Amino acid sequence: MGYCSLCGFTLTLPEPKTQFQMTLSDIQAIQKQQKEFFASGTTRNISWRKKQLKKLLAALQTFDAKINAALLADLGKSPFEVLVSETAFVKAELQHILKNLDTWTQPQHVGLSLIKLGVARSKIVMEPLGQCLIIAPWNYPFQLTISPLIGALAAGNTAVLKPSELAPATAQVIADLIKATFPENYVTTVQGDVAVSKALLDARWDHIFFTGSTAVGKHVMRAAAENLTPVVLELGGKSPVFVDADAKISLAARRIAWGKFLNAGQTCIAPDYVLVHQAVKNQFLTALQEAFDALSNNGSYFENPDYSRIINEAHFQRLQKMLDMPNAASHHKKIKPAILDLPNDQHPAMQEEIFGPIVPILTVAHATEARDYITKQEKPLALYVFTENAKTRALFTNGTSSGSLVFNDLIVHIAHPDLPFGGVGHSGMGNYHGRYSIEVFSHKKTIVTSASWFDIPFRYPPYNLKILNLLRRIF
Ligand code: NAD
Repeated sequence: MGYCSLCGFTLTLPEPKTQFQMTLSDIQAIQKQQKEFFASGTTRNISWRKKQLKKLLAALQTFDAKINAALLADLGKSPFEVLVSETAFVKAELQHILKNLDTWTQPQHVGLSLIKLGVARSKIVMEPLGQCLIIAPWNYPFQLTISPLIGALAAGNTAVLKPSELAPATAQVIADLIKATFPENYVTTVQGDVAVSKALLDARWDHIFFTGSTAVGKHVMRAAAENLTPVVLELGGKSPVFVDADAKISLAARRIAWGKFLNAGQTCIAPDYVLVHQAVKNQFLTALQEAFDALSNNGSYFENPDYSRIINEAHFQRLQKMLDMPNAASHHKKIKPAILDLPNDQHPAMQEEIFGPIVPILTVAHATEARDYITKQEKPLALYVFTENAKTRALFTNGTSSGSLVFNDLIVHIAHPDLPFGGVGHSGMGNYHGRYSIEVFSHKKTIVTSASWFDIPFRYPPYNLKILNLLRRIF
Protein backbone atom coordinates (compact mmCIF):
# COMPACT_ATOMS: atom_id res chain seq x y z
CA MET A 1 0.00 0.00 0.00
CA GLY A 2 1.40 3.42 -0.88
CA TYR A 3 0.14 6.62 0.77
CA CYS A 4 0.84 10.15 -0.43
CA SER A 5 0.84 12.54 2.56
CA LEU A 6 0.35 15.59 0.37
CA CYS A 7 -2.54 14.41 -1.76
CA GLY A 8 -3.98 11.86 0.66
CA PHE A 9 -4.26 9.23 -2.05
CA THR A 10 -3.90 5.55 -1.23
CA LEU A 11 -2.69 3.12 -3.85
CA THR A 12 -2.99 -0.64 -3.79
CA LEU A 13 0.22 -1.96 -5.23
CA PRO A 14 0.18 -4.70 -7.82
CA GLU A 15 2.13 -7.88 -7.16
CA PRO A 16 5.73 -7.37 -8.31
CA LYS A 17 5.44 -7.60 -12.09
CA THR A 18 8.48 -9.62 -12.90
CA GLN A 19 6.80 -12.59 -14.50
CA PHE A 20 4.86 -11.03 -17.35
CA GLN A 21 4.74 -13.44 -20.19
CA MET A 22 5.22 -11.72 -23.50
CA THR A 23 6.38 -13.70 -26.45
CA LEU A 24 7.79 -12.46 -29.73
CA SER A 25 4.50 -13.30 -31.43
CA ASP A 26 2.53 -11.20 -28.87
CA ILE A 27 4.87 -8.33 -29.59
CA GLN A 28 4.54 -8.79 -33.32
CA ALA A 29 0.75 -8.64 -32.95
CA ILE A 30 1.02 -5.23 -31.25
CA GLN A 31 3.46 -4.11 -33.92
CA LYS A 32 1.12 -5.19 -36.71
CA GLN A 33 -1.66 -2.96 -35.34
CA GLN A 34 0.70 -0.02 -34.88
CA LYS A 35 2.18 -0.51 -38.34
CA GLU A 36 -1.27 -0.36 -39.93
CA PHE A 37 -2.16 2.75 -37.96
CA PHE A 38 1.12 4.46 -38.89
CA ALA A 39 0.58 3.55 -42.55
CA SER A 40 -2.82 5.29 -42.45
CA GLY A 41 -0.88 8.59 -42.33
CA THR A 42 -2.85 9.96 -39.34
CA THR A 43 0.27 10.71 -37.31
CA ARG A 44 1.74 12.87 -40.09
CA ASN A 45 -0.71 15.65 -39.40
CA ILE A 46 0.82 18.22 -37.05
CA SER A 47 -2.44 19.47 -35.54
CA TRP A 48 -3.49 15.87 -34.85
CA ARG A 49 -0.16 15.32 -33.07
CA LYS A 50 -0.72 18.44 -30.99
CA LYS A 51 -4.15 17.14 -29.96
CA GLN A 52 -2.51 13.91 -28.72
CA LEU A 53 0.12 15.84 -26.76
CA LYS A 54 -2.66 17.90 -25.17
CA LYS A 55 -4.40 14.67 -24.17
CA LEU A 56 -1.20 13.56 -22.52
CA LEU A 57 -0.96 16.90 -20.73
CA ALA A 58 -4.50 16.49 -19.40
CA ALA A 59 -3.74 12.90 -18.32
CA LEU A 60 -0.79 14.15 -16.26
CA GLN A 61 -3.26 16.22 -14.27
CA THR A 62 -5.79 13.40 -13.90
CA PHE A 63 -3.16 10.90 -12.79
CA ASP A 64 -1.11 13.28 -10.65
CA ALA A 65 -2.17 11.77 -7.30
CA LYS A 66 -1.59 8.23 -8.56
CA ILE A 67 1.85 9.14 -9.91
CA ASN A 68 2.78 10.66 -6.53
CA ALA A 69 1.58 7.59 -4.66
CA ALA A 70 3.41 5.22 -7.01
CA LEU A 71 6.72 7.09 -6.71
CA LEU A 72 6.33 7.14 -2.96
CA ALA A 73 5.74 3.38 -2.99
CA ASP A 74 8.65 2.62 -5.34
CA LEU A 75 11.32 5.02 -4.05
CA GLY A 76 9.91 6.89 -1.05
CA LYS A 77 10.05 10.04 -3.23
CA SER A 78 8.79 13.20 -1.57
CA PRO A 79 6.04 15.20 -3.33
CA PHE A 80 8.60 18.01 -3.85
CA GLU A 81 11.02 15.74 -5.73
CA VAL A 82 8.14 14.16 -7.66
CA LEU A 83 7.02 17.58 -8.80
CA VAL A 84 10.43 19.00 -9.66
CA SER A 85 12.09 15.96 -11.18
CA GLU A 86 9.19 13.96 -12.59
CA THR A 87 5.76 15.52 -13.24
CA ALA A 88 6.52 19.24 -13.66
CA PHE A 89 9.58 18.29 -15.68
CA VAL A 90 7.48 16.28 -18.13
CA LYS A 91 4.77 18.96 -18.19
CA ALA A 92 7.30 21.67 -19.05
CA GLU A 93 8.68 19.50 -21.86
CA LEU A 94 5.17 18.96 -23.24
CA GLN A 95 4.30 22.66 -23.12
CA HIS A 96 7.58 23.68 -24.72
CA ILE A 97 7.13 21.21 -27.57
CA LEU A 98 3.48 22.15 -28.07
CA LYS A 99 4.46 25.81 -28.36
CA ASN A 100 7.20 25.19 -30.91
CA LEU A 101 6.13 22.12 -32.85
CA ASP A 102 4.80 24.04 -35.87
CA THR A 103 8.09 25.90 -36.27
CA TRP A 104 10.33 22.90 -35.62
CA THR A 105 8.55 20.70 -38.15
CA GLN A 106 8.48 23.28 -40.95
CA PRO A 107 10.22 22.02 -44.09
CA GLN A 108 13.58 23.70 -44.45
CA HIS A 109 14.03 25.15 -47.92
CA VAL A 110 17.52 24.92 -49.32
CA GLY A 111 19.14 27.35 -51.76
CA LEU A 112 19.78 26.59 -55.41
CA SER A 113 22.59 24.28 -56.29
CA LEU A 114 25.20 25.41 -58.79
CA ILE A 115 25.30 21.97 -60.39
CA LYS A 116 21.60 22.08 -61.15
CA LEU A 117 21.96 25.67 -62.48
CA GLY A 118 18.79 26.74 -60.72
CA VAL A 119 16.44 24.19 -62.23
CA ALA A 120 15.55 22.28 -59.05
CA ARG A 121 13.85 23.18 -55.78
CA SER A 122 15.16 21.43 -52.67
CA LYS A 123 13.94 21.06 -49.12
CA ILE A 124 14.46 18.97 -46.02
CA VAL A 125 11.41 17.52 -44.29
CA MET A 126 11.25 15.89 -40.86
CA GLU A 127 9.80 12.46 -41.53
CA PRO A 128 8.58 10.27 -38.64
CA LEU A 129 10.60 7.07 -38.32
CA GLY A 130 7.64 4.76 -37.59
CA GLN A 131 7.46 2.35 -34.68
CA CYS A 132 9.51 3.34 -31.65
CA LEU A 133 10.47 1.19 -28.68
CA ILE A 134 11.22 3.10 -25.46
CA ILE A 135 12.94 1.19 -22.65
CA ALA A 136 13.24 2.98 -19.31
CA PRO A 137 15.12 2.56 -16.00
CA TRP A 138 13.79 2.70 -12.43
CA ASN A 139 15.44 5.81 -10.93
CA TYR A 140 13.17 8.49 -12.45
CA PRO A 141 10.73 5.88 -13.68
CA PHE A 142 7.98 8.25 -14.77
CA GLN A 143 10.00 11.06 -16.33
CA LEU A 144 12.38 8.77 -18.19
CA THR A 145 9.51 6.85 -19.80
CA ILE A 146 7.24 9.79 -20.64
CA SER A 147 9.87 12.34 -21.73
CA PRO A 148 11.11 10.25 -24.67
CA LEU A 149 7.48 9.38 -25.47
CA ILE A 150 6.69 13.09 -25.90
CA GLY A 151 9.47 13.36 -28.50
CA ALA A 152 8.36 10.19 -30.29
CA LEU A 153 4.74 11.36 -30.56
CA ALA A 154 5.59 14.96 -31.40
CA ALA A 155 7.69 13.65 -34.28
CA GLY A 156 4.73 11.58 -35.55
CA ASN A 157 5.64 8.05 -34.49
CA THR A 158 3.82 5.24 -32.72
CA ALA A 159 5.36 3.89 -29.51
CA VAL A 160 5.69 0.88 -27.27
CA LEU A 161 6.81 1.69 -23.72
CA LYS A 162 8.73 -0.73 -21.53
CA PRO A 163 8.98 0.82 -18.04
CA SER A 164 11.29 -0.66 -15.43
CA GLU A 165 10.07 -3.71 -13.54
CA LEU A 166 12.05 -2.50 -10.51
CA ALA A 167 9.61 0.40 -10.03
CA PRO A 168 6.43 -1.71 -10.38
CA ALA A 169 3.93 0.80 -8.96
CA THR A 170 5.06 3.49 -11.40
CA ALA A 171 5.09 0.99 -14.27
CA GLN A 172 1.46 0.17 -13.47
CA VAL A 173 0.43 3.84 -13.32
CA ILE A 174 2.14 4.48 -16.66
CA ALA A 175 0.29 1.50 -18.18
CA ASP A 176 -3.03 2.79 -16.77
CA LEU A 177 -2.40 6.37 -17.92
CA ILE A 178 -1.45 5.30 -21.42
CA LYS A 179 -4.42 2.93 -21.69
CA ALA A 180 -6.81 5.68 -20.59
CA THR A 181 -5.33 8.19 -23.04
CA PHE A 182 -4.37 6.45 -26.28
CA PRO A 183 -5.54 3.50 -28.35
CA GLU A 184 -3.18 0.51 -28.35
CA ASN A 185 -2.46 0.83 -32.04
CA TYR A 186 -0.87 4.24 -31.32
CA VAL A 187 0.82 3.91 -27.90
CA THR A 188 0.93 0.93 -25.58
CA THR A 189 2.84 -0.25 -22.53
CA VAL A 190 4.48 -3.64 -22.20
CA GLN A 191 5.42 -4.47 -18.63
CA GLY A 192 7.93 -7.07 -17.61
CA ASP A 193 11.43 -8.00 -16.64
CA VAL A 194 14.64 -8.61 -18.55
CA ALA A 195 13.12 -11.54 -20.47
CA VAL A 196 10.33 -9.30 -21.77
CA SER A 197 12.84 -6.58 -22.63
CA LYS A 198 14.90 -9.11 -24.57
CA ALA A 199 11.79 -10.35 -26.41
CA LEU A 200 11.02 -6.74 -27.37
CA LEU A 201 14.56 -6.32 -28.66
CA ASP A 202 14.19 -9.46 -30.79
CA ALA A 203 11.45 -7.70 -32.77
CA ARG A 204 12.22 -5.23 -35.53
CA TRP A 205 11.70 -1.52 -34.75
CA ASP A 206 12.22 1.71 -36.63
CA HIS A 207 13.85 3.29 -33.59
CA ILE A 208 14.95 2.18 -30.12
CA PHE A 209 15.33 4.72 -27.33
CA PHE A 210 17.07 3.13 -24.36
CA THR A 211 17.81 4.68 -20.97
CA GLY A 212 19.75 2.52 -18.54
CA SER A 213 23.16 1.13 -17.71
CA THR A 214 26.15 1.03 -20.04
CA ALA A 215 26.31 -2.79 -19.76
CA VAL A 216 22.71 -3.26 -20.93
CA GLY A 217 23.17 -0.52 -23.53
CA LYS A 218 25.65 -2.82 -25.28
CA HIS A 219 23.00 -5.60 -25.48
CA VAL A 220 20.50 -3.10 -26.87
CA MET A 221 22.91 -1.91 -29.55
CA ARG A 222 23.82 -5.49 -30.49
CA ALA A 223 20.14 -6.39 -30.91
CA ALA A 224 19.47 -3.21 -32.89
CA ALA A 225 22.39 -3.94 -35.20
CA GLU A 226 20.65 -7.11 -36.41
CA ASN A 227 18.03 -4.92 -38.10
CA LEU A 228 20.15 -1.79 -38.56
CA THR A 229 17.74 0.01 -36.25
CA PRO A 230 18.85 3.47 -35.12
CA VAL A 231 19.34 3.76 -31.36
CA VAL A 232 19.61 6.44 -28.76
CA LEU A 233 21.48 5.21 -25.71
CA GLU A 234 21.07 7.33 -22.60
CA LEU A 235 23.56 5.59 -20.30
CA GLY A 236 25.33 6.18 -17.01
CA GLY A 237 28.79 5.97 -15.49
CA LYS A 238 30.80 8.00 -13.03
CA SER A 239 30.23 11.76 -13.30
CA PRO A 240 33.20 13.51 -11.64
CA VAL A 241 33.43 16.80 -9.76
CA PHE A 242 36.55 18.91 -9.45
CA VAL A 243 36.72 21.48 -6.65
CA ASP A 244 39.53 23.96 -7.32
CA ALA A 245 41.50 25.92 -4.73
CA ASP A 246 39.72 29.15 -5.71
CA ALA A 247 36.19 27.69 -5.65
CA LYS A 248 33.50 29.03 -3.32
CA ILE A 249 33.87 26.10 -0.97
CA SER A 250 30.67 26.27 1.06
CA LEU A 251 28.59 26.77 -2.10
CA ALA A 252 30.34 23.82 -3.81
CA ALA A 253 29.80 21.65 -0.72
CA ARG A 254 26.12 22.59 -0.45
CA ARG A 255 25.44 21.87 -4.13
CA ILE A 256 27.37 18.58 -4.10
CA ALA A 257 25.53 17.45 -0.96
CA TRP A 258 22.22 18.35 -2.63
CA GLY A 259 23.25 16.38 -5.75
CA LYS A 260 23.75 13.27 -3.59
CA PHE A 261 20.61 13.95 -1.52
CA LEU A 262 18.35 14.16 -4.56
CA ASN A 263 16.74 10.73 -5.01
CA ALA A 264 19.40 9.46 -2.54
CA GLY A 265 22.09 9.78 -5.19
CA GLN A 266 20.21 7.51 -7.61
CA THR A 267 20.51 10.00 -10.45
CA CYS A 268 22.39 9.36 -13.69
CA ILE A 269 24.00 12.82 -13.50
CA ALA A 270 24.56 12.78 -9.73
CA PRO A 271 28.06 13.83 -8.71
CA ASP A 272 29.75 10.43 -8.42
CA TYR A 273 33.13 11.31 -6.87
CA VAL A 274 35.04 14.49 -6.02
CA LEU A 275 38.59 15.48 -6.86
CA VAL A 276 39.52 18.29 -4.50
CA HIS A 277 42.52 20.61 -4.62
CA GLN A 278 44.85 19.79 -1.70
CA ALA A 279 44.93 23.45 -0.55
CA VAL A 280 41.20 23.40 0.30
CA LYS A 281 40.68 19.74 1.10
CA ASN A 282 40.15 20.03 4.86
CA GLN A 283 37.94 23.06 4.48
CA PHE A 284 35.89 21.23 1.84
CA LEU A 285 35.50 18.05 3.93
CA THR A 286 34.18 20.08 6.87
CA ALA A 287 31.84 22.09 4.63
CA LEU A 288 30.49 18.94 2.95
CA GLN A 289 29.72 17.28 6.30
CA GLU A 290 28.01 20.48 7.48
CA ALA A 291 25.99 20.60 4.25
CA PHE A 292 24.82 17.01 4.69
CA ASP A 293 23.92 17.74 8.33
CA ALA A 294 21.90 20.77 7.24
CA LEU A 295 19.94 18.68 4.71
CA SER A 296 18.97 16.05 7.28
CA ASN A 297 15.77 16.35 9.24
CA ASN A 298 17.00 17.29 12.73
CA GLY A 299 20.00 15.03 12.26
CA SER A 300 18.03 12.00 11.10
CA TYR A 301 18.16 10.82 7.54
CA PHE A 302 16.15 7.70 8.31
CA GLU A 303 13.09 9.65 9.47
CA ASN A 304 13.40 12.36 6.84
CA PRO A 305 10.29 12.32 4.58
CA ASP A 306 12.13 14.44 1.99
CA TYR A 307 14.81 11.79 1.58
CA SER A 308 14.26 8.91 -0.85
CA ARG A 309 15.18 5.33 -0.15
CA ILE A 310 17.27 2.88 -2.12
CA ILE A 311 15.19 1.14 -4.78
CA ASN A 312 15.54 -2.44 -3.52
CA GLU A 313 17.34 -4.77 -1.15
CA ALA A 314 19.95 -5.79 -3.74
CA HIS A 315 21.04 -2.19 -4.35
CA PHE A 316 20.86 -1.46 -0.61
CA GLN A 317 23.24 -4.38 0.07
CA ARG A 318 25.50 -3.33 -2.82
CA LEU A 319 25.91 0.14 -1.27
CA GLN A 320 26.36 -1.19 2.29
CA LYS A 321 29.12 -3.43 0.97
CA MET A 322 30.75 -0.40 -0.64
CA LEU A 323 30.72 1.19 2.83
CA ASP A 324 32.12 -2.01 4.32
CA MET A 325 28.95 -2.35 6.41
CA PRO A 326 27.33 -5.47 4.88
CA ASN A 327 25.26 -6.24 8.00
CA ALA A 328 23.92 -2.74 8.74
CA ALA A 329 20.26 -2.39 9.74
CA SER A 330 18.00 -1.52 6.82
CA HIS A 331 16.00 1.48 8.16
CA HIS A 332 13.49 1.00 5.34
CA LYS A 333 16.36 0.91 2.82
CA LYS A 334 17.52 4.44 3.63
CA ILE A 335 21.26 5.10 3.68
CA LYS A 336 22.75 8.09 5.48
CA PRO A 337 25.05 10.05 3.13
CA ALA A 338 28.66 9.01 3.65
CA ILE A 339 31.90 10.82 2.79
CA LEU A 340 34.93 8.62 2.03
CA ASP A 341 38.27 10.43 2.23
CA LEU A 342 40.38 8.09 0.07
CA PRO A 343 44.17 7.87 -0.35
CA ASN A 344 43.81 6.54 -3.91
CA ASP A 345 41.21 5.16 -6.35
CA GLN A 346 41.53 1.48 -5.36
CA HIS A 347 38.45 1.59 -3.13
CA PRO A 348 35.33 -0.34 -4.38
CA ALA A 349 33.43 2.98 -4.59
CA MET A 350 35.83 4.03 -7.36
CA GLN A 351 35.35 0.82 -9.38
CA GLU A 352 31.73 1.30 -10.51
CA GLU A 353 28.99 3.91 -10.80
CA ILE A 354 27.91 4.49 -7.18
CA PHE A 355 24.24 5.39 -7.72
CA GLY A 356 23.73 6.09 -4.03
CA PRO A 357 24.53 8.67 -1.32
CA ILE A 358 28.25 7.95 -1.01
CA VAL A 359 30.90 10.58 -1.89
CA PRO A 360 34.46 9.37 -2.42
CA ILE A 361 36.99 12.20 -2.19
CA LEU A 362 40.40 12.06 -3.88
CA THR A 363 43.01 14.79 -3.43
CA VAL A 364 44.87 16.40 -6.35
CA ALA A 365 47.75 18.86 -6.44
CA HIS A 366 46.37 21.03 -9.26
CA ALA A 367 43.65 21.36 -11.91
CA THR A 368 45.74 19.66 -14.60
CA GLU A 369 46.11 16.55 -12.43
CA ALA A 370 42.31 16.47 -12.04
CA ARG A 371 41.85 16.93 -15.80
CA ASP A 372 44.37 14.15 -16.54
CA TYR A 373 42.66 11.74 -14.12
CA ILE A 374 39.25 12.41 -15.67
CA THR A 375 40.45 11.97 -19.25
CA LYS A 376 41.93 8.56 -18.37
CA GLN A 377 38.43 7.29 -17.44
CA GLU A 378 35.50 6.62 -19.76
CA LYS A 379 33.82 9.80 -21.02
CA PRO A 380 31.27 10.80 -18.35
CA LEU A 381 27.63 11.79 -18.80
CA ALA A 382 28.30 15.00 -16.82
CA LEU A 383 31.41 16.75 -15.58
CA TYR A 384 31.24 19.38 -12.85
CA VAL A 385 33.96 21.92 -12.10
CA PHE A 386 33.84 24.41 -9.24
CA THR A 387 36.25 27.24 -9.99
CA GLU A 388 36.38 31.02 -10.29
CA ASN A 389 39.23 30.90 -12.79
CA ALA A 390 38.69 31.40 -16.54
CA LYS A 391 41.90 29.50 -17.37
CA THR A 392 40.66 26.47 -15.44
CA ARG A 393 37.33 26.69 -17.25
CA ALA A 394 39.22 26.72 -20.57
CA LEU A 395 41.36 23.77 -19.45
CA PHE A 396 38.24 21.64 -18.88
CA THR A 397 36.29 23.00 -21.86
CA ASN A 398 39.06 22.23 -24.34
CA GLY A 399 40.77 19.36 -22.58
CA THR A 400 37.94 16.96 -21.66
CA SER A 401 34.99 15.23 -23.31
CA SER A 402 31.69 14.57 -21.53
CA GLY A 403 27.95 14.56 -22.24
CA SER A 404 27.78 17.97 -20.57
CA LEU A 405 30.13 20.23 -18.64
CA VAL A 406 28.78 22.44 -15.86
CA PHE A 407 30.73 25.06 -13.93
CA ASN A 408 29.85 25.90 -10.32
CA ASP A 409 26.66 23.84 -10.24
CA LEU A 410 25.34 20.37 -10.96
CA ILE A 411 22.32 18.52 -12.39
CA VAL A 412 20.45 21.75 -13.26
CA HIS A 413 21.45 21.58 -16.94
CA ILE A 414 18.99 18.72 -17.51
CA ALA A 415 16.05 21.05 -16.84
CA HIS A 416 16.79 23.57 -19.60
CA PRO A 417 14.38 22.77 -22.45
CA ASP A 418 16.68 24.14 -25.17
CA LEU A 419 19.78 22.17 -24.19
CA PRO A 420 20.39 18.73 -25.73
CA PHE A 421 20.74 16.03 -23.08
CA GLY A 422 22.81 12.91 -23.72
CA GLY A 423 26.13 11.20 -23.30
CA VAL A 424 29.23 10.53 -25.35
CA GLY A 425 31.33 7.37 -25.62
CA HIS A 426 30.41 4.97 -22.81
CA SER A 427 27.88 7.41 -21.35
CA GLY A 428 25.72 7.14 -24.44
CA MET A 429 24.93 8.34 -27.93
CA GLY A 430 22.28 10.69 -29.25
CA ASN A 431 20.52 13.37 -27.27
CA TYR A 432 17.02 14.71 -26.64
CA HIS A 433 14.72 17.28 -24.99
CA GLY A 434 12.83 20.02 -26.81
CA ARG A 435 13.71 20.35 -30.50
CA TYR A 436 16.45 17.69 -30.14
CA SER A 437 13.72 15.14 -29.31
CA ILE A 438 11.95 15.97 -32.57
CA GLU A 439 15.21 15.61 -34.47
CA VAL A 440 16.19 12.32 -32.86
CA PHE A 441 12.80 10.71 -33.56
CA SER A 442 12.72 11.93 -37.18
CA HIS A 443 14.49 11.23 -40.39
CA LYS A 444 15.70 14.35 -42.20
CA LYS A 445 14.47 13.58 -45.69
CA THR A 446 15.86 15.43 -48.67
CA ILE A 447 13.27 16.28 -51.30
CA VAL A 448 14.36 17.60 -54.67
CA THR A 449 11.87 18.64 -57.31
CA SER A 450 13.71 18.96 -60.58
CA ALA A 451 12.36 21.05 -63.45
CA SER A 452 10.92 18.96 -66.24
CA TRP A 453 10.67 21.84 -68.73
CA PHE A 454 14.43 22.07 -69.11
CA ASP A 455 17.18 19.47 -69.41
CA ILE A 456 20.86 20.42 -69.40
CA PRO A 457 22.25 18.65 -72.44
CA PHE A 458 25.90 18.40 -71.41
CA ARG A 459 25.24 16.12 -68.43
CA TYR A 460 24.84 13.24 -70.89
CA PRO A 461 27.77 11.61 -72.74
CA PRO A 462 29.54 11.88 -75.03
CA TYR A 463 31.19 14.54 -72.85
CA ASN A 464 32.34 17.77 -74.42
CA LEU A 465 35.93 18.96 -73.86
CA LYS A 466 34.99 22.68 -74.02
CA ILE A 467 32.37 22.21 -71.31
CA LEU A 468 34.82 20.15 -69.24
CA ASN A 469 37.34 23.03 -69.33
CA LEU A 470 34.60 25.50 -68.41
CA LEU A 471 33.55 23.36 -65.46
CA ARG A 472 37.19 23.02 -64.35
CA ARG A 473 37.43 26.83 -64.26
CA ILE A 474 34.17 27.11 -62.29
CA PHE A 475 35.13 24.51 -59.68
P1 NAD B 1 19.29 -1.27 -16.53
O1 NAD B 1 20.17 -1.11 -17.72
O2 NAD B 1 19.55 -2.40 -15.62
O3 NAD B 1 17.75 -1.41 -16.99
C1 NAD B 1 17.13 -0.49 -17.86
C2 NAD B 1 16.00 -1.20 -18.60
O4 NAD B 1 16.56 -2.25 -19.39
C3 NAD B 1 14.94 -1.84 -17.72
O5 NAD B 1 13.67 -1.57 -18.26
C4 NAD B 1 15.27 -3.34 -17.77
O6 NAD B 1 14.13 -4.16 -17.70
C5 NAD B 1 15.92 -3.48 -19.13
N1 NAD B 1 16.97 -4.52 -19.14
C6 NAD B 1 17.76 -4.91 -18.10
N2 NAD B 1 18.62 -5.86 -18.50
C7 NAD B 1 18.37 -6.09 -19.81
C8 NAD B 1 18.94 -6.95 -20.81
N3 NAD B 1 19.94 -7.79 -20.50
N4 NAD B 1 18.43 -6.91 -22.06
C9 NAD B 1 17.43 -6.06 -22.38
N5 NAD B 1 16.85 -5.22 -21.49
C10 NAD B 1 17.31 -5.23 -20.22
O7 NAD B 1 19.35 0.12 -15.76
P2 NAD B 1 18.66 0.52 -14.40
O8 NAD B 1 19.31 -0.24 -13.29
O9 NAD B 1 17.19 0.45 -14.53
O10 NAD B 1 19.05 2.08 -14.30
C11 NAD B 1 20.26 2.53 -13.77
C12 NAD B 1 21.25 2.90 -14.86
O11 NAD B 1 20.65 3.77 -15.81
C13 NAD B 1 22.43 3.67 -14.30
O12 NAD B 1 23.60 3.25 -14.96
C14 NAD B 1 22.11 5.11 -14.67
O13 NAD B 1 23.24 5.96 -14.76
C15 NAD B 1 21.44 4.93 -15.99
N6 NAD B 1 20.59 6.07 -16.29
C16 NAD B 1 20.89 6.89 -17.32
C17 NAD B 1 20.10 8.00 -17.57
C18 NAD B 1 20.41 8.95 -18.69
O14 NAD B 1 19.54 9.78 -18.99
N7 NAD B 1 21.56 8.90 -19.33
C19 NAD B 1 18.98 8.24 -16.78
C20 NAD B 1 18.70 7.37 -15.75
C21 NAD B 1 19.49 6.28 -15.50
